[in-house]
Amino acid sequence: MQDKPYITIVVPVYNEEGNLRPLFERLYPVMQKIGRPFEIIFTDDGSRDRSLAILKELAAQYPEVKVIEFNGNFGQHMAILAAFEKSSGEIVVTIDADLQNPPEEIPKLVAEMEKGHDVVGSIRQKRQDTFFRKTASLMVNVVTRKITGMRMSDYGCMLRAYHRNVVDNINRCQETTTFIPALAQTFSSTPSEVPVAHAERAEGESKYSLYKLVRLNFDLMTGFSVVPLQIFALLGILTSLFAVAFAVFLLVRRFIVGAEVEGVFTLFAILFFFIGITIFGIGIVGEYVGRIYQEVRRRPRYVVRNVHGFEE
Ligand code: UDP
Ligand code: MG
Repeated sequence: MQDKPYITIVVPVYNEEGNLRPLFERLYPVMQKIGRPFEIIFTDDGSRDRSLAILKELAAQYPEVKVIEFNGNFGQHMAILAAFEKSSGEIVVTIDADLQNPPEEIPKLVAEMEKGHDVVGSIRQKRQDTFFRKTASLMVNVVTRKITGMRMSDYGCMLRAYHRNVVDNINRCQETTTFIPALAQTFSSTPSEVPVAHAERAEGESKYSLYKLVRLNFDLMTGFSVVPLQIFALLGILTSLFAVAFAVFLLVRRFIVGAEVEGVFTLFAILFFFIGITIFGIGIVGEYVGRIYQEVRRRPRYVVRNVHGFEE
């Protein structure tokens, strides 16, 4: 029997064969140096390369390493949730497999947790991503802060530490689409943030296509607030008021100047603008309805094919 882990490291893995050993070779000494019992849980999110084989080797070699094997690709957040359910550490730390988050920063997070915080986020210093990703993130961070009213500087950075209580509460949620840092924030009473270094992806390419990123951000906005719906209700009221005012204006004008005939295409432009807004509004309603549908079906959120390295 091993000692009960004090720290659990959670790593979601999707086609990261080139990164796993370099990550482990940096992560393991860092954890040993902290000097408390720990476990490292990797979730293989349906990789199609050698990732799983490498993880199994690590699990066979090191008692601290545990592997959850998914039956397909269920996404980074589901991979983390599955590991949360199997985690037993007092402190649970999530980290990406691609070495963008340096494992050497983990002691800093742990030290901050030990000051009594229940969630420690991180802010990426000198972020090493494409200009496009950085600009998109900036916009998402600002909009999310406004819409959800949560105070978090950097939503995207997944190098984070959570207290056992927060993880237990997250485990009680059974929502199918989620965004873990935001979910954790709703259960946290004493959150904190520390600056961490950020590196370029070591090997392979980002697993997030533009489409996946857009989906993820819809999850974030609709999963934690109904403000987008409320904005549309308000917009509808404003448009109606404007239309009434405009009708009154046209009526008055008809008596003073006469009926108007020209400006047909201006009318089209205005019309298309409002049709655009209407379709967008229906789309947002659809996002919520789709999510409600997913939730009521109550299908399993992910399927675990096998686990390795866990005690019976
Ligand atoms: N990941 C995953 N499942 C996915 C996509 C990504 O488990 O469907 C993992 C991936 O292996 C990595 C982490 O999530 O460890 C972050 O992914 P990535 O580095 O591609 O995202 P980015 O840094 O570009 O935001
Ligand atoms: Mg990355």
